[in-house]
Amino acid sequence: MQRDQVVVVKLGTSVLTGGTDKLDKAHMVELVRQCCELKKQGHQVILVSSGAVAAGREQLLKPCGRTLIDKQMLAAIGQGQLIHIWQSLFALYGVNVGQMLLTRADVDDRERYLNARDTLNALLNYDVVPIINENDAVATSEIKVGDNDNLSALVAILANADKLLLLTDQQGLFTSDPRTDINATLIDEVTHINDELRQLAGGSGTNLGTGGMATKLQAADIARRAGVEVIIAKGADENVILKCMSEQLPGTRFLKLTAPKDGRKKWLLAGPKSSGQILIDAGAVHALQSKGASLLAKGITRAIGEFERGDLINLIDVNHQIIARGLTRFSHLEINKIKGAHSNQISQLLDYDSGVEVLHRDDMVVL
Ligand code: GLU
Repeated sequence: MQRDQVVVVKLGTSVLTGGTDKLDKAHMVELVRQCCELKKQGHQVILVSSGAVAAGREQLLKPCGRTLIDKQMLAAIGQGQLIHIWQSLFALYGVNVGQMLLTRADVDDRERYLNARDTLNALLNYDVVPIINENDAVATSEIKVGDNDNLSALVAILANADKLLLLTDQQGLFTSDPRTDINATLIDEVTHINDELRQLAGGSGTNLGTGGMATKLQAADIARRAGVEVIIAKGADENVILKCMSEQLPGTRFLKLTAPKDGRKKWLLAGPKSSGQILIDAGAVHALQSKGASLLAKGITRAIGEFERGDLINLIDVNHQIIARGLTRFSHLEINKIKGAHSNQISQLLDYDSGVEVLHRDDMVVL
C-alpha cells in the first residue's frame, strides 16, 4: 500500500444519517476509526462533511420549511453541533480537528484561495484533521458552491490531494439504473468522462441523477484534471475507507490525469467564475488541444460578455463546449476589434502595441 497520501473523504448527508432524519453517531464513530487508521498508516485525512442542515433540523425540534433561508438557519444551528460530534469522536483517538467553512468566493479570488490553502496545509502539518463544509449560513446563491461533491473537488485541489473518496448511499456508477434494470453492472474504472457517461449519471431517461451522481461526476471531472484519483463508493460498506486505499476497490474509480505543475493553473482548474467567453474556430481548438498553443486573434470569432484585461474567461467552440479557461490579455472591446486578424495587424488595429497572444499558454488550462 502506498503511504503518505493526502486523502479527502467526502461524507454526504445520506451517509451520516443512514437515510434517517438524525445523525447516525454509531456509524460516524466507525468512519472516524477508519480515518484514524489511515492516519496511523501515515496518510493525511481531510473530511468534507455535510450534515449541518440535518443536525439543525434534529436540534430545533420544531417543524421547519425547506426554503433557502430555512436551510441557512438550520445550518447555523447544526454546524456547531456537527463539529462538536466530530471533535469528540476524533478525541477518542487523540486526534485534533479544525473547522473550515468555505464558499465559492474563497476559491474565486486568488488571494483568498491562497489563504485557504495555507490554513489547510498548516492544519495538516500540525497533524490536525481539517473538517470542511460550505459556509451555508452566509452563502447566498452567487457565492455558494451549492453541493459538497463540487466543494470536495475544490478542497482536493487546494490540498494537492492524492485521492478523493466520494462516499454516498450507492455503490458507484452503474451502466444503467440498478433499481429498474437487473442487468445493470457497476463500472469499476472510468478513464474518460464523456457525454454518454454524463447522460448515465443524470441525463434525462435515467433516475441515477437523483442519487446525486451528476454532481459526483462533475466533481470527479474537476479533481482528476488536477491529478487527483477519485473513487465513488458506498459509505455504509464495512471498512469502505480502508478498502478505497487498497487494491480491493469497493466502487467506481476515476483515473487521474496529468496535473499542471503551476499553482496558478491549478487555481484555474478550481473553477473561479468567468467574466465572459471567447468563441474560437475549429483551427484554434485544434491548436490549443493538440499543440498546446497560445490563443491568437486569428482563431477568434467573437467575444461574448464584457470583460477587462486580466479577467478570467472561458474559450468556447461553436457547440458552446468549454475548451479552455484562462486570463485574457485583451478586453472584450479590443478582442472584437482584432478578431480574425493576423498577428502583425494587431498594433495597427488597436493603435498601440500590446503583444499578440490573446490568451498566453502559461495563463490557460485546456480542459
Ligand atoms: N452543506 C450542506 C450541509 O451541511 C450539505 C450540502 C451537500 O451535501 O451537498 O447540510
